[in-house]
Amino acid sequence: MDMSIGENICADALSGRLVMDLKALVDNYSTLAKRVHPAEASAVVKADAYGLGVAHVAPALFAAGCRKFFVAHLQEAAKLKPYLAQEASIFILNGLLPGGENFAAAHGFVPVLNSLEQIANWQHTAQSLGKTLPAILQFDTGMSRIGLSPQERDVLAQNPALLSDLDVLYLMSHLASADESENPQNESQCAVMRDILAQFPGIPLCFGNSGGIFLDTRFHGDLVRPGIALYGGVPSDRSGDAIKPVVSLSVRVVQTRSVSAGTRIGYGGTYIAAQDMRLATIAAGYADGLPRSLSDKGAAYFGDKRLPIVGRVSMDSMTIDISALPEGTLTLGSLVEVIGPHQTLEEVANAAGTISWEILTSLRHRYDRQYI
Ligand SMILES: *Cc1c(COP(=O)(O)O)cnc(C)c1O
Repeated sequence: MDMSIGENICADALSGRLVMDLKALVDNYSTLAKRVHPAEASAVVKADAYGLGVAHVAPALFAAGCRKFFVAHLQEAAKLKPYLAQEASIFILNGLLPGGENFAAAHGFVPVLNSLEQIANWQHTAQSLGKTLPAILQFDTGMSRIGLSPQERDVLAQNPALLSDLDVLYLMSHLASADESENPQNESQCAVMRDILAQFPGIPLCFGNSGGIFLDTRFHGDLVRPGIALYGGVPSDRSGDAIKPVVSLSVRVVQTRSVSAGTRIGYGGTYIAAQDMRLATIAAGYADGLPRSLSDKGAAYFGDKRLPIVGRVSMDSMTIDISALPEGTLTLGSLVEVIGPHQTLEEVANAAGTISWEILTSLRHRYDRQYI
């Protein structure tokens, strides 16, 4: 279990059990790496490896052959570094904010440069240190989120000196709709990327995220950047059952009760029992990554019995309808399944009106975390 919480507390006394299957994680990495070969597969381990815990995830992926790791922020790079051997590279997707350059250079982190300003800052750092510094250049090919704009791209192409003292390892862009294989935005971003490759010839391409891996090889380039597919999310309408689930979550019952027809349940009294019901209150709520939007929509499972969430999800608990189970089946400390064989991460996300990325990165640290 995670020693940061409750190291002296019996695991059974913790509010829930979050199990991370590192074997499935590594299998997913291998599946993706084989699929893109001869292109290389990196791993996106931002946001504490999507909430799974970078201290466990990064060494497992390194052992599986992964040598390139992407984080979002400089502080994440610093946190990741101790878990990786020297030959691993750490790339920072958002690039650097002013003042972070010397720290990044000293630790060998490679920024993704997203604007002429970030390029100039990194170049000044290289010049002040009297050496060449590595970088990735990111271009906006139609998402309008981050990366060099078409105008900045032209300035750069016409002024090669702006890149002197920099060793550009990859040209990069990010796909906005790669999870939808038929979305025309994929082709249009690909066409823009083709023009960029022609403007900056001879530099390798870092392109697809998880969804992009399930498009064709034009979306792979030389290096792909999967995140969600490593962690068991469904990355594409084309991925079928290629990706194995990695995370399962069970939550403990803290109380059971019987209520009669007409009883109000939960904050706001929004749910009114239509008949006599038996209820269980379980020890996880929106502060544990189960969004309030699951109120009256989501469910837990016990075996193959669906136990609907009734009333509003609270911060630290929620109430489920256990009328379908024989009386006495659930008692104080029983575990019910929230993510597992009967209910996928995707199904929880759909019920909550969100995406698997948001659920995973919200699960946080109040559960007993087990790595197998
Ligand atoms: C988060 C992110 C990824 C990983 O995306 P997934 O859809 O989780 O595979 C790749 N590239 C960039 C730029 C990202 O921000």
